Amino acid sequence: MKNDEKVMCGGPALLVPAHLSFGQHFLDKIRENCLRQDGVALIDYHTGHKVSYKELLEETVSAAVGLQSMGLNRGDVVGICSENRPEFVTAVMGAICCGAVVTAFNPQYKADEIQHALNISLPKLIVASENSLKKHIDVFKSMPFINKLIQLNGEPVQHDVNSYSSLLVPTNPNTYVPVEVNGTDTVFIFYSSGTTGLPKGVMLSHLNALYVSSSLDFGYTRESCIRFLSILPMCHVFGLFSVIHYLGCNKLLILMVYSPVDYLKAIEEYKVNLLIIVPPIAVFLSKSDLVQKYDLSSVTRIWCGAAPLSQETTVGVLRNFPNCQKIIHGYGMTETSFIIIKSYDTLDSEQKHGSCGHVVPGMKVKVVDINTRQTLGSYERGEVCVKGPLVMKGYMNNDQANVDIRDDEGFLKTGDIGYYDSDGCFYIVDRLKELIKYKGHQVAPAMIERVLLQHSDVLECGVVGAPDELAGELPTAFVVPKPDVTLTEKELLDFTNERLSPITRIRGGIYFVSEIPKSGTGKILRKVLKASVIAK
Ligand code: AMP
Repeated sequence: MKNDEKVMCGGPALLVPAHLSFGQHFLDKIRENCLRQDGVALIDYHTGHKVSYKELLEETVSAAVGLQSMGLNRGDVVGICSENRPEFVTAVMGAICCGAVVTAFNPQYKADEIQHALNISLPKLIVASENSLKKHIDVFKSMPFINKLIQLNGEPVQHDVNSYSSLLVPTNPNTYVPVEVNGTDTVFIFYSSGTTGLPKGVMLSHLNALYVSSSLDFGYTRESCIRFLSILPMCHVFGLFSVIHYLGCNKLLILMVYSPVDYLKAIEEYKVNLLIIVPPIAVFLSKSDLVQKYDLSSVTRIWCGAAPLSQETTVGVLRNFPNCQKIIHGYGMTETSFIIIKSYDTLDSEQKHGSCGHVVPGMKVKVVDINTRQTLGSYERGEVCVKGPLVMKGYMNNDQANVDIRDDEGFLKTGDIGYYDSDGCFYIVDRLKELIKYKGHQVAPAMIERVLLQHSDVLECGVVGAPDELAGELPTAFVVPKPDVTLTEKELLDFTNERLSPITRIRGGIYFVSEIPKSGTGKILRKVLKASVIAK
């Protein structure tokens, strides 16, 4: 780490493959793994279905050829909406081999939320699991730009839906060559509200994706015998990249949709040694009595990110995992592709509680005063700003947001408040931006406010996160009812629950107030609302 005029640098940039194609990179890695041994790559915990590296390679290539023959071309957008399952990986990587752009929708989304995302990325083709299709088929069919629906599993829910298996075109996986792309071509679009407003489409390039792989390829990830239990949803950048990366590294992946008991059972049954978790799961692992009932001694490494992790929780987790000596902490955001600050993974390195570690190679991070924008020195709190090969290409079709998110020196403004110490270790201590994090999931207050304002009796509203030990934060609403109406909390909750996904619901309650505090320019003063939640 070099401290360059108060800008903390993670050292020289890492190398990426010269072809600059994320699809080519994935195929190269999986082919290498097939040569070493044709072991099991993936296990679907819920069905017990196993996929070998050979099958993974064959299905990816067959999907690529099938999608291409359906008319998928370089630059076309494919939307995927599914819970974690093996076909998710092959469909995504098959589409990427066609030079297409993949956008992932959270299967928990409600109609309003998925419509908002679809209208940003405009996919021409949707690949969805049976459950997601049953839920969203009407929305997909109402979008004029979508011309094909592909169902990943089960019998097609309607006659005009194509089954994924029938689309696959068997092809020699060793001679197949993916469509050529430029490193700057967009490969993924994820959704994030950034520092303000409704969710936006975050465009990541092939170069961003290749750099994620390079930055994850260190130390223990090269060891064999890693059994990784993956529960982060693949619709989120961290979930998808970790699955694709570890598959490329010849690791065994156990995919599951998180539930506490199954999680513990899976660790015991598959002798899992690597966990990637978010703080609410860490709280469960540190406190639940269930943990004592399972043999968790196989776990030697735990990664945690997405939100702050307290010292008490860290200590509690480590107490329950006898062979895990530290939790590797990471900080990043959708707009930075992956983790940009992380604690050292070597077991002899010091664990500084509350710190998320050092800047990763190739990245630069500075902390600036939120009023003067002057770069600050060690131990001074300000906005964390980042630059380097992991920073997104930009927001899709949103010039204003692209201008607003960068400062004069081209650094991306994270909207997070933090500082670094004399060793260059970073601490994230607060959030300047509107974003609420519920159990590690992004919740955009503007999305909830939009739904509240659809209720005919709501005049004004403002939504903030109330601190919560288990979830991190709970979306909490302040509502000004129209004059002379009688509006109850239950009525409004019923109304919003119908329109908001479980992760976005107003779980912190609704407070009826006579006005929403605003700045001179009409912006909701969220700090004031937040302070009043804490005071209540
Ligand atoms: P997302 O784009 O959904 O990954 O959310 C990114 C945001 O999550 C960041 O801007 C932070 O506000 C928060 N976050 C991520 N990692 C951490 C961490 N290690 N500590 C504190 N906050 C974090």
